[in-house]
Order: sequence, then C-alpha cells, then structure tokens
Amino acid sequence: MNRTVYVNGDYLPEAEAKVSVFDRGFLMADGVYEVTSVLDGKLIDFDGHAKRLHRSLSELDMAAPCTDEELLAMHRELVVLNGIDQGMIYLQVTRGNPGDRSFVFPDASVKPTIVAFTQNIPNLADAPAAKTGFKVISIPDIRWGRRDIKTVQLLYPSMGKMMAKKAGVDDSWFVEDGAVTEGTSNNAYIVKGNKIITRQLTSDILHGITRASVLRFAAEAQFEVEERPFTIAEAQAADEAFSTAASIFVMPVVEIDGQAVGTGKPGPVATRLREIYLDEMRKAAL
Ligand code: PLP
Repeated sequence: MNRTVYVNGDYLPEAEAKVSVFDRGFLMADGVYEVTSVLDGKLIDFDGHAKRLHRSLSELDMAAPCTDEELLAMHRELVVLNGIDQGMIYLQVTRGNPGDRSFVFPDASVKPTIVAFTQNIPNLADAPAAKTGFKVISIPDIRWGRRDIKTVQLLYPSMGKMMAKKAGVDDSWFVEDGAVTEGTSNNAYIVKGNKIITRQLTSDILHGITRASVLRFAAEAQFEVEERPFTIAEAQAADEAFSTAASIFVMPVVEIDGQAVGTGKPGPVATRLREIYLDEMRKAAL
C-alpha cells in the first residue's frame, strides 16, 4: 500500500509517517482515537465523532491538537489524496513526546501528537457479513472503568476478538455482573417485538456515535427504545440481536454462545435499521 498519511500537520507517504519512541501513545497508551466511515467519498457522522473526540480529550486533560474546521479539512484531504470512495479514516491523538518516559503528564509545552490514515474498503456498505450476520461468544468484561473514553488501550478488546476467532465466530460480547456491556468494538442490542433494548450510557460502555444515530432513527420509525442492561440468556431468547459501530453500521447478530437468535438469520428490524441508517447518513454526509 502507498497511502498518504497525516502526521502533525504534514501529508506524508506512509513509509515516512513516523512518531517518536518516546511518544506517550506508544509508551503508555496515553491517547484517544476516532474512526469515521466514508461512503461515496463523504464523511459519515463527522460532527458526532469530532464531538466525542473533544470529550475524550477533555476527560483525560489533554489539549486539542487543532480546531474542528482543521480536523474536517484534514479528513477531507485524506479522502481525496487516497481516492477513498468507501472506507474509514482512523484518527489518533496522543499526549505527545516529552522526550523521556515518566508517569507524570508532561507540561503544556509538549504538543499532542496527531496522526490519521485511511483504510480503503470498497464493499463497506455492502459487506457480505451483513447478509449472514455475526456469530458471537460472551466473555468476561475485564476492561478498565472508563470505557466511555475512546482510548487506544485496546489490548483486551483485541484479545476478545482473538477468542472469538479461535471459537470460529465473528466477535465477542463482554459480560459484567451478569449483563452484556458491549461488543469488542461495537454496541450491543436485542429486539423483542417492537422494542429495541440496549444498555444505558454510563462509563461502562463507549457512547457510540452510530448508537446515537440508530436510536434516533429507530424512534422516528416508531420502534420503542429501552435503555437497560440485558443478560446473555435474554439475548438468546430475543427475536433479534445486532451490533452497531462506524465500521459495521448495523450488523445483525444471529448466534450467541452457539445458540441461534430468532430464526438464526438476519432479522427484519436489524435489516431495516441498517437500510435506514445508510440512507439517512448518506444524505447527511459531509
Ligand atoms: N463500543 C466499543 C468498545 C467500540 O470500540 C466502538 C467503536 O470502536 C463502539 C462501541 C461503537 O462506536 P461508534 O458507533 O462510535 O463507532
């Protein structure tokens, strides 16, 4: 691949895109990130991602690396420079390079590091997995207590993905105190009749940008939305289940811990919400 990558104000060939070994993102996972999807060469839900980036930065007392206008211009420039029609933009901001390793945060003279790169995924909207649905297993949620901050501490979610892979399925759903929190990199939902159930927003889960839009569209489409925890047993007995994230939009979940959900095929509610989401977000894309 020969992408053009953004590093601290410069657009560089990917082989030349580098950060210091002293960067706190590398040494301490002291950084936050966002993933914005691209459809038809346009950014999906950009304002939501920019807003959550600010929240993550402020919760960690980290300086914003640039203005929102600059952030938008940079995202658009990466789309153009890399000829992206469908795909994603990964953005990461770290507390920067203090020139040494220390547990103490550096002072304000150390500027944040900002990097961004594109991922070209030609069939993002038409992903084959959306037609068959995800199979998931449940695993204990042993992540830290501030999952509402989108940090780059992704080792356990990555291990969760590997546990899923080893089990021959697509993803893992985390369980804490008997209830589902979320997926390794997505929010989790079940459907019972006309009701869509998903865990309420606390520091237990990431406040998904796709979640916010999907719940808004669901309410507009006259679905009832209930925000509360649910168990794996309740999910297995539900009519449908699904996950949402910028990278998968609305993804039907058809099997949990080896047990089929509903018919074991993508259900009408998840399928309809995926269609509505894609239609509406395409209209509002920047
Ligand atoms: N939950 C977790 C743990 C995630 O990592 C993600 C996305 O990466 C989400 C939920 C979904 O968030 P969004 O819809 O903003 O992509």
